[in-house]
Amino acid sequence: MSVGKDKQKHYLIGNKNDMNLINFIESFPDEASCRKKFKEIRDTEGVVCRKCGGKDHYWQATLEQYQCKTCKTRTTLRSGTVMQASKLPFRYWFIAMHLLTGTKKTFSALELQRQLGHKFYEPVWFMLQKLRTTMGLRDSNYPIDKIVELDEGFFESVDTEKEKEDKDEKRKRGRGSQKQSTVMVMASTIHDFNTKKKYNKPTKFRYVRMLVVDDLKGKTIEQKVKENISSDSVVKTDNYSSYSKVKDNVWCHIAQKVKPKEAGKVLPWVHTMISNSKRTLLGAHHMVSKKYIQNYLDEFCYKVNRRYFGEELFDRLLIACATINYKNVVKDYR
Ligand SMILES: [Zn+2]
Repeated sequence: MSVGKDKQKHYLIGNKNDMNLINFIESFPDEASCRKKFKEIRDTEGVVCRKCGGKDHYWQATLEQYQCKTCKTRTTLRSGTVMQASKLPFRYWFIAMHLLTGTKKTFSALELQRQLGHKFYEPVWFMLQKLRTTMGLRDSNYPIDKIVELDEGFFESVDTEKEKEDKDEKRKRGRGSQKQSTVMVMASTIHDFNTKKKYNKPTKFRYVRMLVVDDLKGKTIEQKVKENISSDSVVKTDNYSSYSKVKDNVWCHIAQKVKPKEAGKVLPWVHTMISNSKRTLLGAHHMVSKKYIQNYLDEFCYKVNRRYFGEELFDRLLIACATINYKNVVKDYR
């Protein structure tokens, strides 16, 4: 059993061709090289004028801005991207992206602030949250399909809002502040026809999605299934009553009676994902806030889902940052 577990860990988070630190430093030795790369991506992906929607622009090298050929509106290199409104250097963003994509686990904003030698914590924290949101938005484009394991997990998180309230009302500190976040976990798998391996699970793992939900009512679950799982999927769950509507929204629903001790056998990948993500979160952040736990889970899923991308992973995130709608990324941080 333990042999199988070790293999699985390696299989899930191992990158074969990491963009290592030496490569990164050589590719991006200074601010200018980062700006150049970012401009290349914007040129390739296309700049859209926020005023008239025009796609043709002049590049004004001295101002480092685009100018719309139709209405003359100017667009800075950052504007419209995830970096809009950030005063941090491009290189900080590149370093953060390198660390987020090049490390197997994760790291805290405090750690990054220390590594950057930056005076303030807040902008570094915002930068990381925006990058995590970008990861989540990218993943939400892909439906979860094939044979889908679906279950819920409970993650320790701190309700900072509630903690504030408690303090104001001079209640006993800590009451209601330690909370759990309820998370729906979906793992896309396919049949594994390779029966030679003795310890193999019957299915092969493909993708995972984790969604923080307010409750586990039938309606909530049905809505999330509709939004996230492809309607031609086979969905496996335990026989919890809230899953009763799942069958109306997918091709086939298999609800199995599961003894708590055997949940790992019936829904093996979901349980692997829950325990791996908990370990990752605890290792780097100790306790995350209820409000932002979705972002940390998004980062975890993004990395797992792209575990075979190797050094491409950095480029992919960079492209996502250059093309994602800034408004969608910042909605939570105002
Ligand atoms: Zn224009």
